[in-house]
Amino acid sequence: MADKKNLLAGTSDSSVENEYFSPIPRGYQKGKTKYVIVMGTVMSGLGKGIFSSCLGKLMQDKGLKVAPIKLEGYLNIDSGTLNPFRHGEVFVLDDGMECDMDLGTYERMLETNLSRDNFSTSGQIYRDVLDKERHGDYLGRDVQMIPHVTGEVKLKLRNLAIKSEADIVFVEIGGTVGDLENAFYIEAMRELAYEEGPNSCCFVALTYILEPEILGEQKSKAAQLGIKQLMQSGIQPDIIACRAARTVDQKARQKISVYSNVPIDRVISLADSASIYKIPAMLRDHGMDFEVLRLLHIEDRIDLRKERTAWATWCDFTDKIGKETNEVTIGITGKYTSVRDSYASIINALEHAGIACGCKIKIAWIETSNITDKNVAEHLKGVNGIIVPGGFGARGTEGKIACIKYIRENNIPFLGICLGFQMAVIEFARNICKLKDANSTEIVPDGPNPVIDILPEQKKIEGLGGNMRLGGHDIEIKPDTAAFKLFGNKTSVRMRFRHRYEVDPRYIETLEKEGMVFSGKAPNQPIMQILELPNHPYFIATQAHPSLTSRPLHPQPMFVGLVAAAMKR
Ligand code: GLN
Repeated sequence: MADKKNLLAGTSDSSVENEYFSPIPRGYQKGKTKYVIVMGTVMSGLGKGIFSSCLGKLMQDKGLKVAPIKLEGYLNIDSGTLNPFRHGEVFVLDDGMECDMDLGTYERMLETNLSRDNFSTSGQIYRDVLDKERHGDYLGRDVQMIPHVTGEVKLKLRNLAIKSEADIVFVEIGGTVGDLENAFYIEAMRELAYEEGPNSCCFVALTYILEPEILGEQKSKAAQLGIKQLMQSGIQPDIIACRAARTVDQKARQKISVYSNVPIDRVISLADSASIYKIPAMLRDHGMDFEVLRLLHIEDRIDLRKERTAWATWCDFTDKIGKETNEVTIGITGKYTSVRDSYASIINALEHAGIACGCKIKIAWIETSNITDKNVAEHLKGVNGIIVPGGFGARGTEGKIACIKYIRENNIPFLGICLGFQMAVIEFARNICKLKDANSTEIVPDGPNPVIDILPEQKKIEGLGGNMRLGGHDIEIKPDTAAFKLFGNKTSVRMRFRHRYEVDPRYIETLEKEGMVFSGKAPNQPIMQILELPNHPYFIATQAHPSLTSRPLHPQPMFVGLVAAAMKR
C-alpha cells in the first residue's frame, strides 16, 4: 500500500485497499495558503459575507493576498435562475458567472474583480463528482459523500489557493450549521483543518444573541446550542462573533466563552451598524486582525507601512459617512420592492455616490403596477431623481413607461438600468417617434413595433440557465456626449450585462432622428448600450448594470451623475 504522503499527492488515487482519498492538486504547497472559514449558527442572514469581507479587507490592507470563496448549499448550478425576491439580487461577475449577492460585498470591500473560482454551489460539486465518476476517475470505488464529495470541496479550495497565490483563502459557508444541505461542507472543513495541520485554519462562528423585548435582557442559549452543534461536527471555533441588535454584554459573552472553550477576548460583540463600511473599524477595535494573524502564524508576512496608508485612505472615506450636509430622495421603481436585498448593488451604488457628493440618500420605493399617465404625478411626488432598474416579465412595465414619460416631460433626473433602458426606448418610440404600440417582444411577442427584441444570439437558445448575454463587455463611448463627460472623456468603458433583449437595430435611425442619442455601443455589434436625451438635465440609461461595478472609493459615474443632478433639483 502506498504511504500516506503519496496518497496525498495523487489527484485520483482510487485503489480499493485504502480508505484515504484526498485530492491534492499538482503544485499545491501546504502551509503557503491559510484558511479562514466563516460559518453561521442560529439563523441565516447574519452577514457572514460582510464579516468575512471586512476581515479580508483588514488583511489585504496589511499587504496580504486574500481570495474569498462562497460555498452555497443549494443544488442550482448558479444563482441565475433564483428569484431575487427569495434569495436577494443575482450578482453577475465579469466572467459572466451569476452568483450570490455576497460576491458583490467581497468585490466592493476588497476592490477586486472576482470570477467563477470564487463561487460554488452543492450543485456544482455534485456535478463535478458525477462527471468524474462517468469518466472513470474513481474506478473500483463506491463514490461516497466522504471522501469523494468532501474531497471535491477541498480540491476547489486548494485550486483557488494555487491560482490566486493567496496568503489567506476566506471560505464562507452559506446557510447555517445543521442544515442538511451544508453538512458535507462542514465535514470538508474539518478534514481540511486535519490535513493542513495546526495553525492553518481559523474557524469563525457567527451567531445571534436574542434580546426578547418582554425579558429586556440578552439571551445566549440559542447561540450556545448552535455552537455546540458545530463542535459536535468536530470543529472547534477560534473566534465567535455575536451579532445582535445592540452591543452584546459581558455576561452573554462569558457564557458563550465558557461553553465553547473560546477565550472571552475572541468572543466579540458585533452589533448592528448603520453602514457596513464601519465594520472593518469595529473588527480592528476588537483586535481581530491580529488575533487571526497569530492563530495562523503569519504575523511575519505583513507590511505595516502599507497598512498605514491603506487605512488612512479608508478612514478618509468612512469619516464622511453620516456627515452629509445635503439630502435627496431617489425613487426606485420595481416589482421586488418589498425586499431590499433584491436591489442590493443599486442601494450600495447610491450610497457610494451619495458619500462622494456629501449627500444623504433617501430611497422611495415605487410600486408601478397601478401607475398610469393620470396618477403618475401623485406617485412621483417628492422625489428628486428616479431609477428604473432591471427586471423580467411584463408586470408593472406600463407603469414604468408612464413614469419615464413624466420624468422626460418634467425634467426629473433619470437613470434607467437594463429593463429601465428598454422602457425608455419604448416610451420614446411611442410618444416621440409615434410608433404605435411600440413594445418589447418580451412583453408583447407579436406587436406592430417591436423596438426591443430578442438578441439574435439568444434566439437559438433553449432553457433558462446561464444563457443570457452575461458578464463584462466593453462599451464604446461617443465623444462629446453626457456619457463621455461622466466617464472622464474615456472612449471605452467596461460594464457588466445580463440581458436577453436589445434595441432592434432597424429602429435606431428613427430613434436617433427624433433626438435620442445612443452614446454607448458594443464595439463590433449593433448593440445599443447607453442612451441619453440632450435637452434634459439628466436622462441617461444603459443596457448594462452599472451598479455591479460601483466601489466605495470609486463610485460609479452614472450614479454620481444622478445624485448630482438630483441635488440641483
Ligand atoms: N428582461 C430584459 C432582458 O432580458 C432585461 C433584463 C434585466 O433587466 N436584467 O433583456
